[in-house]
Amino acid sequence: MHSTNDIRRAFLDYFAANDHTVVPSAPLVPYNDPSLMFVNAGMVPFKNVFTGLETPPAPRATSSQKCVRAGGKHNDLDNVGYTARHLTLFEMLGNFSFGDYFKERAIELAWGMVTRELGLDPERLSVTVYHTDDQAADLWRKIAGLPDERIIRIATKDNFWAMGSDGPCGPCSEIFWDHGPSVAGGPPGSPDEDGDRFVEIWNLVFMQHIQEADAIVGDLPRPSIDTGMGLERISTVLQGVHNVFETDTFRALIEASEDLVKAKAEGEQIASHRVIADHLRSTSFLIADGVLPSNEGRGYVLRRIMRRAMRHAHLLGADRPLMHRLVPALVTEMGQAYPELARAQPLITEVLEREETRFRQTLEKGLRLLDDEVATLGEGADLPGEAAFKLYDTYGFPYDLTEDALRSRGIGVDREGFDTAMAQQKAAARAAWKGSGAAADSEVWFDVVEREGATEFTGYTSEKGEGRV
Ligand code: ATP
Ligand code: MG
Ligand code: MG
Ligand code: MG
Repeated sequence: MHSTNDIRRAFLDYFAANDHTVVPSAPLVPYNDPSLMFVNAGMVPFKNVFTGLETPPAPRATSSQKCVRAGGKHNDLDNVGYTARHLTLFEMLGNFSFGDYFKERAIELAWGMVTRELGLDPERLSVTVYHTDDQAADLWRKIAGLPDERIIRIATKDNFWAMGSDGPCGPCSEIFWDHGPSVAGGPPGSPDEDGDRFVEIWNLVFMQHIQEADAIVGDLPRPSIDTGMGLERISTVLQGVHNVFETDTFRALIEASEDLVKAKAEGEQIASHRVIADHLRSTSFLIADGVLPSNEGRGYVLRRIMRRAMRHAHLLGADRPLMHRLVPALVTEMGQAYPELARAQPLITEVLEREETRFRQTLEKGLRLLDDEVATLGEGADLPGEAAFKLYDTYGFPYDLTEDALRSRGIGVDREGFDTAMAQQKAAARAAWKGSGAAADSEVWFDVVEREGATEFTGYTSEKGEGRV
């Protein structure tokens, strides 16, 4: 069997053998972009190289970059535990050409990787290209010998990547794996493409134009390549399973939580075990990279993820804090590839234990209040925003935790009402702050938060770029 750790190695070795410099994963908190919540793609650490502000580490590079997609525009938090392919923390395997090779070599390398190195059956692969990108379609035909019906032309932003309204951009081409007719879902571009049968495994971005104010104004002097393949998704394929949570890493983590809470990952409890395993990874990696739980910005995203997992631990009947007791299993699985995790093990353990001990004091009371509120709701009604805000303000329930708690009962939450209650409280806090004569930089922070939203400020995403970064 291909273990996840072996696949990571095989990818980096292949690109190293093809003259790429192996670059270690950058920390999750972007050093080059204070406006971005977390690194959410392999290219983020190289952002300034593509724009020409920094010199490249080498003409060609490869990495396995840890990414978090929670908070901000690329928020997969709500999908986790419920789709077969989304995680809050995942590893993005990538190869990069900084003005060196372009489309043809990128396609050759990718096809060689998936079919020869990893041995995937070419009959079960299909690709998408941007609808006007005849060149990419021709190259796929020539290099991979794919028939036209498996080179799908897509006209949406899913296949046109941009870093932001200004900067490098270009069409992209994505590789999909067919998990087979036993899984529901249609091929990319079809009306039922959101099913889990055809799963996107790799995105190749052909950076070739430059845009200003969302309009292409010219070509890059040196076209470049940026690719991203989800390690956990390719492991899923190679391990012959369908769901990322059935791969080796996640099986080990779920077994550890099954042992500790004495509840099998079956029936309704599957989602809870999956959420816990995923959130254990993202929270531990964030703490290892210096993020601590707080009530704003990055620290609040961390807190949201932690508390969400903690409610699921409660659901599984954990009679005392659980998350910190899972850290040894995580370090066993991932500590070798990510030594920072092993180094920070005592800190991660302490932070998780303290947060869970604290949150358990209000969790049960909050859940009781939630039950009382739900009992008063009419058929098909949403939970009122004020109730969600009270849970947030008094019991420390992040908004999405409340939403997640009601999900299995088919009840929604009045987001607008929640936001209104929150805005009122913020206005009151701001007025009080002004009166205190605090420093001017706090004012700047309030302005930024107000303009962008503390958990929404992700910087350089754009309409067109949504499919990628
Ligand atoms: P999807 O459409 O499935 O949400 P995406 O188009 O948002 O994926 P990209 O931004 O193109 O993903 O990222 C490149 C690759 O990273 C994807 O092809 C996929 O293999 C992987 N990936 C993206 N999001 C996740 C996630 N939440 N969990 C695990 N892997 C992911
Ligand atoms: Mg994509
Ligand atoms: Mg996609
Ligand atoms: Mg996505």
